[in-house]
Amino acid sequence: MKQSYLIKPILDEDYPIIDFGKGVYLYDIEFKEYLDASSGAVTANIGHGVKEIIKAMKRQASKISFVYRSQFTSEPAEQLAQKIAEMAVGDLNWSFFVNSGSEATETAMKVAIQYWQEKGLKTKTKILSRWVSYHGITLGALSMSGHAARRARFTPLLEDFPTIHPPYCYRCPFNQTVPGCGYLCAQELETAITRIGAEHIAAFIAEPVIGAAGGAISPPEHYYQLIKEICDRHQILFIADEVMTGFGRTGTMLACEHWGVVPDIVALGKGMGAGYAPIAAALVSDRVMEPILSGSKVVMSGHTLSANPQSCAVSLAVINYLEQNNIMKMVSEKSAYLFTKLQKLKFQFPFIGDVRGLGLLIGIEFVQDVQTKTPFPRSASFTQKVIKTAMKNGLLLYPAGAGMDGINGDAIIISPPLTITNDEMDELIERLTITCQELFESIQK
Ligand code: PLP
Repeated sequence: MKQSYLIKPILDEDYPIIDFGKGVYLYDIEFKEYLDASSGAVTANIGHGVKEIIKAMKRQASKISFVYRSQFTSEPAEQLAQKIAEMAVGDLNWSFFVNSGSEATETAMKVAIQYWQEKGLKTKTKILSRWVSYHGITLGALSMSGHAARRARFTPLLEDFPTIHPPYCYRCPFNQTVPGCGYLCAQELETAITRIGAEHIAAFIAEPVIGAAGGAISPPEHYYQLIKEICDRHQILFIADEVMTGFGRTGTMLACEHWGVVPDIVALGKGMGAGYAPIAAALVSDRVMEPILSGSKVVMSGHTLSANPQSCAVSLAVINYLEQNNIMKMVSEKSAYLFTKLQKLKFQFPFIGDVRGLGLLIGIEFVQDVQTKTPFPRSASFTQKVIKTAMKNGLLLYPAGAGMDGINGDAIIISPPLTITNDEMDELIERLTITCQELFESIQK
Protein backbone atom coordinates (compact mmCIF):
# COMPACT_ATOMS: atom_id res chain seq x y z
CA MET A 1 0.00 0.00 0.00
CA LYS A 2 1.26 3.49 -0.85
CA GLN A 3 2.20 5.56 2.23
CA SER A 4 -0.02 8.64 2.62
CA TYR A 5 0.21 11.58 4.98
CA LEU A 6 -2.28 14.02 6.41
CA ILE A 7 -0.81 17.53 6.71
CA LYS A 8 -1.52 18.45 10.33
CA PRO A 9 -0.91 21.85 11.97
CA ILE A 10 2.43 20.81 13.50
CA LEU A 11 3.90 18.07 11.37
CA ASP A 12 5.99 16.26 13.96
CA GLU A 13 3.35 16.21 16.67
CA ASP A 14 0.99 13.37 17.62
CA TYR A 15 -2.70 14.25 17.70
CA PRO A 16 -5.27 12.09 19.51
CA ILE A 17 -7.89 10.56 17.23
CA ILE A 18 -11.37 11.80 18.04
CA ASP A 19 -14.23 9.34 18.29
CA PHE A 20 -17.36 11.24 19.31
CA GLY A 21 -18.71 14.26 21.13
CA LYS A 22 -21.65 14.87 23.45
CA GLY A 23 -22.55 18.32 24.75
CA VAL A 24 -19.41 20.04 26.05
CA TYR A 25 -17.41 16.80 26.11
CA LEU A 26 -15.30 15.08 23.45
CA TYR A 27 -13.97 11.50 23.58
CA ASP A 28 -11.00 10.10 21.68
CA ILE A 29 -10.67 6.51 20.49
CA GLU A 30 -8.96 5.60 23.77
CA PHE A 31 -12.02 6.91 25.68
CA LYS A 32 -10.11 9.87 27.10
CA GLU A 33 -12.58 12.64 27.92
CA TYR A 34 -11.95 16.31 27.08
CA LEU A 35 -14.04 19.22 28.31
CA ASP A 36 -14.30 21.52 25.30
CA ALA A 37 -13.63 24.90 26.96
CA SER A 38 -12.86 26.55 23.62
CA SER A 39 -15.69 25.17 21.41
CA GLY A 40 -12.83 23.97 19.21
CA ALA A 41 -11.82 27.19 17.50
CA VAL A 42 -14.67 29.19 19.12
CA THR A 43 -17.05 27.37 16.79
CA ALA A 44 -19.04 24.56 18.46
CA ASN A 45 -21.36 27.13 20.06
CA ILE A 46 -24.17 24.69 20.90
CA GLY A 47 -21.95 21.75 21.82
CA HIS A 48 -21.43 18.42 20.12
CA GLY A 49 -23.84 15.73 18.93
CA VAL A 50 -27.01 17.82 19.14
CA LYS A 51 -29.89 15.59 17.94
CA GLU A 52 -31.93 18.41 16.40
CA ILE A 53 -29.07 19.42 14.11
CA ILE A 54 -28.34 15.85 13.05
CA LYS A 55 -32.05 15.42 12.21
CA ALA A 56 -32.05 18.61 10.11
CA MET A 57 -28.90 17.44 8.29
CA LYS A 58 -30.49 14.10 7.44
CA ARG A 59 -33.73 15.74 6.31
CA GLN A 60 -31.94 18.13 3.95
CA ALA A 61 -29.55 15.46 2.65
CA SER A 62 -32.51 13.30 1.65
CA LYS A 63 -33.90 16.22 -0.44
CA ILE A 64 -30.97 18.02 -2.07
CA SER A 65 -27.41 18.67 -0.86
CA PHE A 66 -25.98 20.79 -3.64
CA VAL A 67 -27.10 23.22 -6.30
CA TYR A 68 -25.06 25.77 -8.17
CA ARG A 69 -26.09 29.27 -7.08
CA SER A 70 -26.04 30.55 -10.67
CA GLN A 71 -28.71 27.96 -11.59
CA PHE A 72 -30.97 27.69 -8.54
CA THR A 73 -31.76 29.21 -5.22
CA SER A 74 -33.08 26.94 -2.46
CA GLU A 75 -35.57 27.12 0.40
CA PRO A 76 -32.89 26.76 3.13
CA ALA A 77 -30.78 29.57 1.60
CA GLU A 78 -33.78 31.92 1.22
CA GLN A 79 -35.06 31.14 4.72
CA LEU A 80 -31.61 31.61 6.25
CA ALA A 81 -31.16 35.02 4.61
CA GLN A 82 -34.61 36.03 5.92
CA LYS A 83 -33.88 34.76 9.43
CA ILE A 84 -30.48 36.49 9.64
CA ALA A 85 -31.97 39.79 8.48
CA GLU A 86 -34.64 39.48 11.21
CA MET A 87 -31.98 38.82 13.85
CA ALA A 88 -29.55 41.51 12.71
CA VAL A 89 -29.72 45.12 13.83
CA GLY A 90 -30.43 48.08 11.53
CA ASP A 91 -30.60 47.61 7.78
CA LEU A 92 -28.22 44.63 7.58
CA ASN A 93 -30.63 42.79 5.33
CA TRP A 94 -28.52 41.15 2.62
CA SER A 95 -26.66 37.85 3.07
CA PHE A 96 -23.91 36.55 0.80
CA PHE A 97 -23.21 32.97 1.90
CA VAL A 98 -19.71 31.52 1.73
CA ASN A 99 -17.88 28.66 3.43
CA SER A 100 -15.31 30.11 5.83
CA GLY A 101 -14.57 33.22 7.85
CA SER A 102 -11.71 34.10 5.50
CA GLU A 103 -14.10 34.04 2.53
CA ALA A 104 -16.56 36.17 4.52
CA THR A 105 -14.01 38.93 5.25
CA GLU A 106 -12.70 38.78 1.66
CA THR A 107 -16.24 39.11 0.35
CA ALA A 108 -16.85 42.03 2.74
CA MET A 109 -13.70 43.72 1.45
CA LYS A 110 -14.73 43.21 -2.20
CA VAL A 111 -18.27 44.47 -1.60
CA ALA A 112 -16.83 47.61 0.06
CA ILE A 113 -14.56 48.32 -2.92
CA GLN A 114 -17.38 47.60 -5.38
CA TYR A 115 -19.72 49.97 -3.49
CA TRP A 116 -17.41 52.92 -4.16
CA GLN A 117 -16.80 51.84 -7.76
CA GLU A 118 -20.56 51.79 -8.42
CA LYS A 119 -20.65 55.35 -7.07
CA GLY A 120 -17.86 56.33 -9.50
CA LEU A 121 -15.19 56.62 -6.76
CA LYS A 122 -12.67 54.19 -8.18
CA THR A 123 -9.64 55.26 -6.13
CA LYS A 124 -11.24 54.12 -2.86
CA THR A 125 -9.61 50.68 -2.68
CA LYS A 126 -7.60 50.51 0.55
CA ILE A 127 -8.97 48.78 3.63
CA LEU A 128 -7.59 50.12 6.89
CA SER A 129 -7.20 47.71 9.79
CA ARG A 130 -5.41 47.30 13.11
CA TRP A 131 -2.36 45.54 14.42
CA VAL A 132 -3.11 42.60 16.73
CA SER A 133 -5.95 41.37 14.54
CA TYR A 134 -6.84 38.31 12.51
CA HIS A 135 -9.26 38.35 9.59
CA GLY A 136 -8.37 35.11 7.82
CA ILE A 137 -5.73 33.18 5.92
CA THR A 138 -6.51 33.89 2.24
CA LEU A 139 -4.32 36.63 0.76
CA GLY A 140 -6.95 39.40 0.88
CA ALA A 141 -7.97 38.51 4.43
CA LEU A 142 -4.33 38.17 5.48
CA SER A 143 -3.57 41.57 3.94
CA MET A 144 -6.09 43.05 6.38
CA SER A 145 -4.73 41.03 9.33
CA GLY A 146 -2.33 42.59 11.80
CA HIS A 147 -0.85 39.24 12.71
CA ALA A 148 2.91 39.37 12.30
CA ALA A 149 3.56 35.63 12.49
CA ARG A 150 0.95 34.67 9.90
CA ARG A 151 1.89 37.51 7.53
CA ALA A 152 5.66 36.92 7.68
CA ARG A 153 6.11 34.35 4.87
CA PHE A 154 3.85 36.15 2.44
CA THR A 155 4.72 39.78 3.09
CA PRO A 156 5.76 40.53 -0.52
CA LEU A 157 2.34 39.37 -1.73
CA LEU A 158 0.28 41.29 0.81
CA GLU A 159 -1.19 44.76 0.78
CA ASP A 160 0.17 46.90 3.58
CA PHE A 161 -3.20 47.35 5.30
CA PRO A 162 -2.79 47.19 9.12
CA THR A 163 -2.47 50.81 10.12
CA ILE A 164 -3.52 51.65 13.67
CA HIS A 165 -3.02 50.28 17.18
CA PRO A 166 -5.65 48.13 18.88
CA PRO A 167 -7.70 49.23 21.92
CA TYR A 168 -5.52 47.03 24.12
CA CYS A 169 -6.03 48.65 27.53
CA TYR A 170 -3.95 46.11 29.49
CA ARG A 171 -0.94 47.17 27.41
CA CYS A 172 -2.06 50.56 26.18
CA PRO A 173 0.06 51.47 23.13
CA PHE A 174 -0.11 55.10 24.31
CA ASN A 175 0.67 54.38 27.99
CA GLN A 176 -2.67 55.84 29.08
CA THR A 177 -5.65 54.63 31.08
CA VAL A 178 -9.38 54.88 30.40
CA PRO A 179 -11.25 57.24 30.58
CA GLY A 180 -8.55 59.93 30.79
CA CYS A 181 -6.83 58.61 27.64
CA GLY A 182 -9.11 60.52 25.28
CA TYR A 183 -9.42 57.30 23.28
CA LEU A 184 -6.17 57.95 21.44
CA CYS A 185 -6.39 54.48 19.86
CA ALA A 186 -9.64 55.50 18.10
CA GLN A 187 -8.37 59.03 17.30
CA GLU A 188 -5.44 57.37 15.54
CA LEU A 189 -7.88 56.31 12.81
CA GLU A 190 -8.58 59.95 12.04
CA THR A 191 -4.83 60.68 11.78
CA ALA A 192 -4.32 57.70 9.46
CA ILE A 193 -7.21 58.78 7.22
CA THR A 194 -5.81 62.30 6.98
CA ARG A 195 -2.36 60.94 6.11
CA ILE A 196 -3.54 58.41 3.50
CA GLY A 197 -6.46 60.43 2.15
CA ALA A 198 -10.10 59.33 2.43
CA GLU A 199 -10.25 59.27 -1.37
CA HIS A 200 -8.05 56.13 -1.26
CA ILE A 201 -9.88 54.30 1.54
CA ALA A 202 -12.89 52.02 1.01
CA ALA A 203 -13.35 50.70 4.55
CA PHE A 204 -12.01 50.12 8.02
CA ILE A 205 -12.26 46.55 9.38
CA ALA A 206 -12.08 45.48 13.03
CA GLU A 207 -12.99 42.54 15.26
CA PRO A 208 -15.35 43.89 17.97
CA VAL A 209 -13.50 41.73 20.50
CA ILE A 210 -10.00 40.81 19.28
CA GLY A 211 -9.77 37.03 19.15
CA ALA A 212 -6.87 34.84 18.06
CA ALA A 213 -4.28 37.59 17.75
CA GLY A 214 -5.02 39.16 21.11
CA GLY A 215 -6.90 36.82 23.43
CA ALA A 216 -10.40 38.30 23.79
CA ILE A 217 -9.39 41.96 23.99
CA SER A 218 -12.61 43.87 24.57
CA PRO A 219 -12.60 47.62 23.78
CA PRO A 220 -13.31 50.46 26.24
CA GLU A 221 -16.94 51.57 26.32
CA HIS A 222 -17.15 54.34 23.71
CA TYR A 223 -14.48 53.05 21.33
CA TYR A 224 -16.74 51.75 18.55
CA GLN A 225 -19.07 54.74 18.66
CA LEU A 226 -16.04 56.94 18.01
CA ILE A 227 -14.73 54.65 15.27
CA LYS A 228 -18.09 54.64 13.49
CA GLU A 229 -18.39 58.41 13.79
CA ILE A 230 -14.90 58.91 12.27
CA CYS A 231 -15.69 56.45 9.44
CA ASP A 232 -19.01 58.16 8.64
CA ARG A 233 -17.51 61.64 8.70
CA HIS A 234 -14.82 60.61 6.18
CA GLN A 235 -17.12 58.47 4.00
CA ILE A 236 -15.42 55.22 4.86
CA LEU A 237 -17.39 52.01 5.39
CA PHE A 238 -17.11 50.18 8.70
CA ILE A 239 -16.76 46.39 8.40
CA ALA A 240 -17.23 44.45 11.65
CA ASP A 241 -15.49 41.09 11.55
CA GLU A 242 -17.89 39.14 13.75
CA VAL A 243 -16.67 35.75 12.57
CA MET A 244 -15.75 34.89 16.17
CA THR A 245 -18.07 37.22 18.09
CA GLY A 246 -21.28 36.81 16.05
CA PHE A 247 -24.16 34.39 16.53
CA GLY A 248 -24.51 34.83 20.27
CA ARG A 249 -20.95 34.36 21.51
CA THR A 250 -21.15 37.59 23.53
CA GLY A 251 -24.87 37.25 24.36
CA THR A 252 -26.23 39.18 21.39
CA MET A 253 -26.52 38.28 17.71
CA LEU A 254 -23.68 40.76 16.96
CA ALA A 255 -21.16 42.02 19.51
CA CYS A 256 -21.51 45.54 18.04
CA GLU A 257 -24.98 45.69 19.62
CA HIS A 258 -23.30 46.12 23.02
CA TRP A 259 -22.23 49.60 21.95
CA GLY A 260 -25.25 50.51 19.81
CA VAL A 261 -23.22 50.51 16.59
CA VAL A 262 -24.64 49.29 13.27
CA PRO A 263 -21.79 48.35 10.89
CA ASP A 264 -22.10 48.84 7.11
CA ILE A 265 -20.96 45.28 6.43
CA VAL A 266 -20.50 42.32 8.81
CA ALA A 267 -18.48 39.12 8.36
CA LEU A 268 -20.01 36.05 10.05
CA GLY A 269 -18.68 32.49 10.32
CA LYS A 270 -17.74 29.96 13.00
CA GLY A 271 -20.91 29.84 15.21
CA MET A 272 -23.15 30.16 12.13
CA GLY A 273 -22.83 26.45 11.44
CA ALA A 274 -21.58 25.74 14.98
CA GLY A 275 -19.13 23.24 13.48
CA TYR A 276 -21.87 21.04 11.93
CA ALA A 277 -21.28 22.45 8.42
CA PRO A 278 -18.92 24.94 6.80
CA ILE A 279 -20.90 28.13 6.40
CA ALA A 280 -20.12 31.84 6.73
CA ALA A 281 -21.55 35.07 5.35
CA ALA A 282 -20.96 38.65 4.41
CA LEU A 283 -23.97 40.53 5.77
CA VAL A 284 -24.49 43.75 3.84
CA SER A 285 -26.67 46.77 4.67
CA ASP A 286 -29.38 48.22 2.37
CA ARG A 287 -27.24 51.40 2.17
CA VAL A 288 -24.30 49.51 0.69
CA MET A 289 -26.41 47.37 -1.64
CA GLU A 290 -28.31 50.36 -3.07
CA PRO A 291 -25.71 51.54 -5.67
CA ILE A 292 -24.93 47.92 -6.61
CA LEU A 293 -28.63 47.23 -7.19
CA SER A 294 -29.04 50.32 -9.32
CA GLY A 295 -25.65 49.73 -11.00
CA SER A 296 -24.06 46.48 -12.16
CA LYS A 297 -26.55 44.27 -10.21
CA VAL A 298 -23.85 41.65 -9.64
CA VAL A 299 -21.79 41.22 -6.48
CA MET A 300 -18.44 40.14 -7.82
CA SER A 301 -17.57 37.26 -5.50
CA GLY A 302 -18.76 33.72 -4.84
CA HIS A 303 -17.66 30.11 -4.58
CA THR A 304 -18.85 26.75 -5.92
CA LEU A 305 -20.35 25.89 -2.55
CA SER A 306 -21.79 29.34 -1.76
CA ALA A 307 -25.34 29.14 -0.36
CA ASN A 308 -25.09 25.35 -0.30
CA PRO A 309 -28.55 24.05 0.79
CA GLN A 310 -27.07 21.49 3.16
CA SER A 311 -25.01 24.10 5.04
CA CYS A 312 -27.88 26.61 5.04
CA ALA A 313 -30.23 23.98 6.52
CA VAL A 314 -27.70 23.35 9.28
CA SER A 315 -27.38 27.05 10.07
CA LEU A 316 -31.18 27.38 10.21
CA ALA A 317 -31.33 24.45 12.62
CA VAL A 318 -28.60 26.07 14.76
CA ILE A 319 -30.65 29.30 14.91
CA ASN A 320 -33.80 27.34 15.86
CA TYR A 321 -31.88 25.59 18.60
CA LEU A 322 -30.48 28.88 19.93
CA GLU A 323 -33.96 30.43 19.94
CA GLN A 324 -35.94 27.48 21.30
CA ASN A 325 -33.55 27.04 24.20
CA ASN A 326 -33.16 30.77 24.91
CA ILE A 327 -29.41 30.33 24.71
CA MET A 328 -28.25 33.88 23.87
CA LYS A 329 -30.23 35.31 26.80
CA MET A 330 -28.35 33.11 29.27
CA VAL A 331 -24.86 34.08 28.08
CA SER A 332 -24.36 37.12 30.31
CA GLU A 333 -25.33 35.16 33.46
CA LYS A 334 -23.00 32.29 32.55
CA SER A 335 -20.27 34.78 31.68
CA ALA A 336 -20.54 36.43 35.13
CA TYR A 337 -20.35 33.02 36.83
CA LEU A 338 -17.21 32.06 34.91
CA PHE A 339 -15.57 35.50 35.21
CA THR A 340 -15.92 35.49 39.02
CA LYS A 341 -14.20 32.11 39.24
CA LEU A 342 -11.47 33.06 36.76
CA GLN A 343 -10.76 36.30 38.63
CA LYS A 344 -10.13 34.20 41.77
CA LEU A 345 -7.53 32.17 39.87
CA LYS A 346 -5.77 35.44 39.07
CA PHE A 347 -5.04 35.91 42.77
CA GLN A 348 -4.03 32.28 43.18
CA PHE A 349 -1.40 32.10 40.43
CA PRO A 350 1.27 34.78 39.92
CA PHE A 351 1.49 34.27 36.16
CA ILE A 352 -2.12 35.31 35.40
CA GLY A 353 -1.85 38.97 34.40
CA ASP A 354 -5.27 39.76 32.98
CA VAL A 355 -8.73 38.18 32.71
CA ARG A 356 -10.90 39.99 30.17
CA GLY A 357 -13.43 39.60 27.41
CA LEU A 358 -17.15 39.79 26.74
CA GLY A 359 -19.87 37.18 27.17
CA LEU A 360 -18.48 33.70 26.78
CA LEU A 361 -15.38 34.93 24.94
CA ILE A 362 -12.89 35.24 27.77
CA GLY A 363 -9.16 35.82 27.51
CA ILE A 364 -6.44 35.11 30.05
CA GLU A 365 -3.07 36.77 29.52
CA PHE A 366 -0.01 35.22 31.16
CA VAL A 367 2.97 37.23 32.39
CA GLN A 368 6.28 36.57 34.07
CA ASP A 369 5.71 39.44 36.50
CA VAL A 370 2.26 40.75 37.34
CA GLN A 371 3.51 44.15 38.56
CA THR A 372 5.63 44.98 35.49
CA LYS A 373 3.47 42.92 33.07
CA THR A 374 6.70 41.48 31.65
CA PRO A 375 5.81 38.75 29.17
CA PHE A 376 7.47 35.35 29.21
CA PRO A 377 10.33 35.11 26.72
CA ARG A 378 9.16 33.70 23.39
CA SER A 379 11.57 30.77 23.82
CA ALA A 380 9.51 29.66 26.86
CA SER A 381 6.51 28.89 24.57
CA PHE A 382 4.28 29.45 27.60
CA THR A 383 0.98 29.42 25.71
CA GLN A 384 1.81 26.06 24.16
CA LYS A 385 2.74 24.69 27.60
CA VAL A 386 -0.63 25.80 28.96
CA ILE A 387 -2.49 24.25 26.03
CA LYS A 388 -0.63 20.94 26.29
CA THR A 389 -0.86 20.63 30.07
CA ALA A 390 -4.58 21.40 29.91
CA MET A 391 -5.11 18.82 27.19
CA LYS A 392 -3.33 16.20 29.29
CA ASN A 393 -5.78 17.13 32.06
CA GLY A 394 -8.77 16.74 29.74
CA LEU A 395 -9.36 20.43 29.04
CA LEU A 396 -9.38 22.10 25.60
CA LEU A 397 -8.27 25.74 25.41
CA TYR A 398 -7.67 28.06 22.43
CA PRO A 399 -4.20 29.63 21.96
CA ALA A 400 -4.06 33.35 21.34
CA GLY A 401 -1.96 36.43 21.86
CA ALA A 402 1.72 36.68 21.55
CA GLY A 403 2.49 33.12 21.13
CA MET A 404 0.67 33.88 17.89
CA ASP A 405 1.87 37.29 16.81
CA GLY A 406 5.09 38.08 18.64
CA ILE A 407 4.00 41.51 19.88
CA ASN A 408 1.82 41.15 22.95
CA GLY A 409 1.83 38.61 25.78
CA ASP A 410 0.94 34.93 25.90
CA ALA A 411 -2.78 34.32 26.10
CA ILE A 412 -5.53 31.73 25.85
CA ILE A 413 -9.21 32.00 25.07
CA ILE A 414 -11.89 30.29 27.14
CA SER A 415 -15.03 30.04 25.05
CA PRO A 416 -17.07 26.96 25.97
CA PRO A 417 -20.27 26.04 24.12
CA LEU A 418 -22.94 28.57 25.09
CA THR A 419 -24.96 25.61 26.39
CA ILE A 420 -22.49 24.89 29.22
CA THR A 421 -24.10 24.35 32.65
CA ASN A 422 -22.87 25.70 36.01
CA ASP A 423 -21.70 22.21 37.03
CA GLU A 424 -19.73 21.93 33.81
CA MET A 425 -18.22 25.38 34.42
CA ASP A 426 -17.15 24.19 37.89
CA GLU A 427 -15.52 21.19 36.24
CA LEU A 428 -13.80 23.52 33.73
CA ILE A 429 -12.40 25.62 36.60
CA GLU A 430 -11.25 22.52 38.46
CA ARG A 431 -9.33 21.21 35.44
CA LEU A 432 -7.89 24.69 34.79
CA THR A 433 -6.79 25.02 38.44
CA ILE A 434 -4.99 21.65 38.28
CA THR A 435 -3.34 22.82 35.03
CA CYS A 436 -2.23 26.15 36.56
CA GLN A 437 -0.91 24.37 39.66
CA GLU A 438 1.22 22.08 37.48
CA LEU A 439 2.53 25.05 35.52
CA PHE A 440 3.27 26.91 38.74
CA GLU A 441 5.27 23.96 40.05
CA SER A 442 7.19 23.66 36.76
CA ILE A 443 8.13 27.36 36.91
CA GLN A 444 9.33 27.00 40.53
CA LYS A 445 11.74 24.18 39.57
N1 PLP B 1 -12.03 36.47 11.32
C1 PLP B 1 -11.87 36.17 12.62
C2 PLP B 1 -12.18 37.20 13.65
C3 PLP B 1 -11.41 34.90 13.00
O1 PLP B 1 -11.26 34.63 14.30
C4 PLP B 1 -11.14 33.95 12.01
C5 PLP B 1 -10.63 32.63 12.37
O2 PLP B 1 -10.15 32.37 13.44
C6 PLP B 1 -11.33 34.30 10.66
C7 PLP B 1 -11.78 35.57 10.36
C8 PLP B 1 -11.07 33.31 9.57
O3 PLP B 1 -12.04 32.30 9.60
P1 PLP B 1 -11.77 30.87 8.93
O4 PLP B 1 -10.70 30.20 9.74
O5 PLP B 1 -13.11 30.19 9.04
O6 PLP B 1 -11.36 31.12 7.54
